[in-house]
Amino acid sequence: MTAPRQEASKLGQFSWALFDWANQPFFTVVTTFIFAPYFANVMVGNAIEGQAAWAFTQSTSGILIALMSPFLGAMADAGGHRKPYIFAFQLLLGLGCAALWWAYPGRPDLIGPISAAVVIATVGAEMSIVFNNAQLPHIVRPERMGWLSGFGWGLGYCGGLIALFMVLAVNDRPLFGLDPKTYTLERLVGPASALWLAVFVIPMFLFTPDMASQKLTLWQAARQGGRSLLDTLKKIERPFFTPIYDFCSPRMVFGRIILLGDAASSARPHMGFGVAKAGDDARALADALAAHDDVDRALAHYQSVRAPISERIMRHGRKLGTHLGVDLATDEDRATWKMLQDYRAMMDWIAVPNFLAAS
Ligand SMILES: Cc1cc2nc3c(=O)[nH]c(=O)nc-3n(C[C@H](O)[C@H](O)[C@H](O)COP(=O)(O)OP(=O)(O)OC[C@H]3O[C@@H](n4cnc5c(N)ncnc54)[C@H](O)[C@@H]3O)c2cc1C
Repeated sequence: MTAPRQEASKLGQFSWALFDWANQPFFTVVTTFIFAPYFANVMVGNAIEGQAAWAFTQSTSGILIALMSPFLGAMADAGGHRKPYIFAFQLLLGLGCAALWWAYPGRPDLIGPISAAVVIATVGAEMSIVFNNAQLPHIVRPERMGWLSGFGWGLGYCGGLIALFMVLAVNDRPLFGLDPKTYTLERLVGPASALWLAVFVIPMFLFTPDMASQKLTLWQAARQGGRSLLDTLKKIERPFFTPIYDFCSPRMVFGRIILLGDAASSARPHMGFGVAKAGDDARALADALAAHDDVDRALAHYQSVRAPISERIMRHGRKLGTHLGVDLATDEDRATWKMLQDYRAMMDWIAVPNFLAAS
């Protein structure tokens, strides 16, 4: 990563952040809240088959993105320019979204073409995000990178929510000839996301400076990128090894310094429980302070209540980890692994506090 010699103008940086605003409605109204449930429940006409078909689109997209990103990223690194890649993938996103208009209700025969459109749009969205993110180190100094990245992220969520509220506002109203019988609104969210994208992505193309071109042809960039990717892969000692850490602080109170949330303990990522634990820590601290006149006794009480729970949450995360079947050391690990192969057991074990109530 090279630090920019000179930052982009404020307009260039804002336009970069606006990219998230332009792209987010696709994720909010198409892949999450409006189109995805419509596709599964109404278009396919059978909720279970619909869910399976939707899951297929998402996993296909994920595999394609995983295969393409490293190579195309290396190719873009070699060629210099990012914007041609962003443009090409944004075009795919727009076209994929626009095609969702033809997702007529009760038409399982359309699963193939509409799934293809969803895959094209998803790959287009994710890949253009990869290339847009790669612009960040070249438009802002390292110490402001976190700020600009967070601003773009936040702006994206605002854009997604506004788009969602706009859809909900026109829902069930016979506005603009929207016909609930033919699910016009649900089919329109794709083309509307494409239109939103086309309008709000323009500033990024106009005002955010691209990197200097290395004046390579596509073929030269592909060869050079491919070589550097292979070189990188060769240097990774254990390419399929991802370390996962957890920890639990033995103390949560140090005088008047209190640990809570992730600072106090952090379970493995497959738990899906960090937010609930952080919130419960904060509530326990507030309750302890309200119940005791003496601050030290309140803090001691807080630690005595929460430390054992933090420990249990961390240990539960380790048990859940046996699901992956890696390094199963004990009979208990093997029994837990077997039990967790059943998705119903997993639903009981993950992201829900059942294990806390059980013991
Ligand atoms: C990719 C990812 C996905 C996740 N998915 C889930 C999920 O699906 N479900 C779930 O429950 N949990 C999830 N988690 C975990 C969850 O986000 C955390 O457990 C939770 O946010 C912890 O909350 P916290 O308040 O303890 O810490 P944080 O949310 O990390 O808040 C700490 C804050 O302190 C600020 N800070 C740090 N240092 C300083 C300083 N010196 N001065 C001032 N401020 C400072 C940080 O900027 C940050 O804003 C996920 C985490 C990640 C990274």
